Amino acid sequence: MVKKIVQIGDPVLEQKCDKVDPKDPKIQELINDLIDTCKEKEDITAGLSAPQVGEKLRICICRRTDLEEGSEKPLPSETLWEVLINPTVKNSSKKTSTYWEGCLSIGEGPEGLYGPVARPEEVTVEFQTRTGDKKTLQCSGFFSHVVQHELDHLEGVLFLKYISDPDTIWKGKELDKYYSKHGEYPPV
Ligand SMILES: [Zn+2]
Repeated sequence: MVKKIVQIGDPVLEQKCDKVDPKDPKIQELINDLIDTCKEKEDITAGLSAPQVGEKLRICICRRTDLEEGSEKPLPSETLWEVLINPTVKNSSKKTSTYWEGCLSIGEGPEGLYGPVARPEEVTVEFQTRTGDKKTLQCSGFFSHVVQHELDHLEGVLFLKYISDPDTIWKGKELDKYYSKHGEYPPV
């Protein structure tokens, strides 16, 4: 079931989330709902976390943008939407990279807010899959940002926290205008 996205200002987005048992049927149902919601917003989203649909739980969905980049065919849904349960960062690189980030909980589409965020270039995350198995992923490039952005949600952190200069925050429609004029996003 597609869920409504909670918007900035709601306290659920500012709380540390609780660990979950992947075997709990209610958790499985929530995972299905999160994936359904990602699919519905496929054109505009790279991930979604449980607090964004009002659940203070350590579950997030990360779009495998790393696999998508190298694939000529669309990826099957189970591959595209990686389910991370009780994830933790095991390692992060000192080197950082900067990408434009947005968030479904900070407006949407033309009215959404976007900004350049610097994060560790590479991270290693450990988590449980929806079958309860342990999995480790090495993440780099934009995908690393996707994973770190979603994990932040589980700690009650939104990406705007990392932006010190408000002049670098753009509305979606302004970014789109720039993109259509220049064929790329503004340099970061
Ligand atoms: Zn977000």
